[in-house]
Amino acid sequence: MEKDKTAAGGKTPSDTSLNTQWKAVCGLLRAEIGEAAYQSWLKPMTVHEIVDGELRIFVPTRFMRDWIIAHYLDRLCELWADENAEVKSVNVYIQSERETETAPSRKKTSSGDAGSSRNGGSNNFRIDISAPLDHRYTFEQFVVGKPNEFAYAAARRIAEASKVVFNPLFLYGGVGLGKTHLMQAIAWHIRERTPERTVIYLSAEKFMYRFIRALREKNTVDFKEQFRSVDVLMIDDVQFISGKESTQEEFFHTFNSLVDQDRQIVLSADKSPSDLEGMEERLISRLNYGLVADIHATTYELRLGILYSKAEKMSVEIPQKILEFLAHKITANVRELEGGLNRVVAHAQLVGRDITLETTQDVLHDLLRANDRRVTIEEIQKRVSAHFNIRVSDMHSARRARSVARPRQVAMYLAKQLTARSLPEIGRKFGGRDHTTVMHAVKKVDELREQDSSFAEDVELLRRMLEG
Ligand code: ADP
Ligand code: MG
Repeated sequence: MEKDKTAAGGKTPSDTSLNTQWKAVCGLLRAEIGEAAYQSWLKPMTVHEIVDGELRIFVPTRFMRDWIIAHYLDRLCELWADENAEVKSVNVYIQSERETETAPSRKKTSSGDAGSSRNGGSNNFRIDISAPLDHRYTFEQFVVGKPNEFAYAAARRIAEASKVVFNPLFLYGGVGLGKTHLMQAIAWHIRERTPERTVIYLSAEKFMYRFIRALREKNTVDFKEQFRSVDVLMIDDVQFISGKESTQEEFFHTFNSLVDQDRQIVLSADKSPSDLEGMEERLISRLNYGLVADIHATTYELRLGILYSKAEKMSVEIPQKILEFLAHKITANVRELEGGLNRVVAHAQLVGRDITLETTQDVLHDLLRANDRRVTIEEIQKRVSAHFNIRVSDMHSARRARSVARPRQVAMYLAKQLTARSLPEIGRKFGGRDHTTVMHAVKKVDELREQDSSFAEDVELLRRMLEG
């Protein structure tokens, strides 16, 4: 392609050759991404100048900048490098930051150097405390089914509402079931619709880390200011701060101050507020105050739906029966399901062969075995009752006779050993018993195993049967 030499030295916003080149780049990208995306994302961009090989693009909002970086920066770099050899990297700036000369995301055209999104200007210091969002975690890419429809609806409601509807929204569920995905979907949605609102998303771990650093550096005032002046605060995995007293204290105050100002809070955890161990009562009751929505374990239908949706975006043909097999076998959570699918596809691409049931079983043998081994409390209760020849209902009953109390304790013990359930959760499955009862059972069975070798063998046998 003919390069216009005047562009090399030009570098002014009004430089016509730069504008001509930009039109050419836009034309190509427009053809690739379609009219709708072009209108939303490319049209509002303006190209200003080339400084030391860096092409500077300006956009009106932070959300647009993030979105363009996530979706189009790579392609923009390639196209620009083709169009103008002088361009070595492409940067996207927010219009309002022009004066403050902050260093925005940069992508080199030559290498695969990933763009970083740092913000230096004091006017955007808040974005700094927000973790970067994963561009795949949007509502569009979230597959809705029975187990997550309530959580999804609640998340959507929050994202679409212009004022606070329920506060906080507390999402909980086991690992890998989509809590982080839903939270970030809320953040994306709000940033897109109302970029002027400040949305902060971060993990509870980061929250604590920042708090501790502020304590050390003696600037807790700034810390408080930052958090207390946001519109939407989202903290992921709050179970992390259970047992961490001073972090809880700070969190509690931040929480209250935001609620009082009618700002939206969204939290997630792996357990319900009441099941979080080591959380202060007053914090629990505040958490329970809003809407608590749980994401249940996946069903076969949801798993299959998710696999369809992910397979569709891949460049490989995956037989229906393989997807069904995966949905059937990988039941633990969505993360493992995704991982399994990715492994099968990667393997097929590497060896250049079709995906068959045999290769799938082969490639995933460890994952399939781990999923086979997962046990539920119900299974444990059934097995243990059968073994000791009592009724399953005795697992829930209030009867305290040794003949039923002992097997019940064994079942509680095995539930603690073989499942990821917390003590309160286990207690609830045993006729609503207190977590201290479960704790006592675990201790008791441990003692008896020490003292009585035939009892120990019994327990061991049960464990092996359950683990299959
Ligand atoms: P959690 O935070 O609950 O541990 P994540 O949100 O990180 O789980 O989800 C794990 C992975 O599974 C992510 O890649 C996420 O995109 C995917 N995932 C979970 N649920 C769904 C769903 N309903 N539809 C599509 N993808 C999902
Ligand atoms: Mg998560």
